[in-house]
Amino acid sequence: MEECIFCKITKGEMDAEVVYSDDRVVAFRDINPQAPVHVLVVPRKHVRSVFDLSPEDYDLLGRIFQVAKRVSEEEGIAGSGVRILTNVERGAGQSVFHLHFHVMGGRQMHWPPG
Ligand code: AMP
Repeated sequence: MEECIFCKITKGEMDAEVVYSDDRVVAFRDINPQAPVHVLVVPRKHVRSVFDLSPEDYDLLGRIFQVAKRVSEEEGIAGSGVRILTNVERGAGQSVFHLHFHVMGGRQMHWPPG
């Protein structure tokens, strides 16, 4: 079975523009950015979506949001507006089935997102 592309990126087996990395979380620029800043915050652990987290993974969510804040500050968008979102399954737009949070900013965000 072909390995998950985000697993490959977190293991350094596939190129990505990594902006943050620690023992549990990696953040890298989206290859098809939808905003001037568009970073994906991804756990190293392979989990399909936020609905597949088990209770022992919940502290990982806290780490992910810490990283999202840190990246937003470093990218200079923390004060101007940041959208942090995760898609769950195809109907919501999920196309890579390894949990990731989009961190987007640098332009006016609209609602509803469509
Ligand atoms: P989603 O559609 O919510 O599952 O988000 C997946 C995101 O991953 C999309 O915004 C893609 O542009 C992005 N993406 C897919 N492949 C790569 C890659 N190799 N490097 C960086 N971002 C990627």
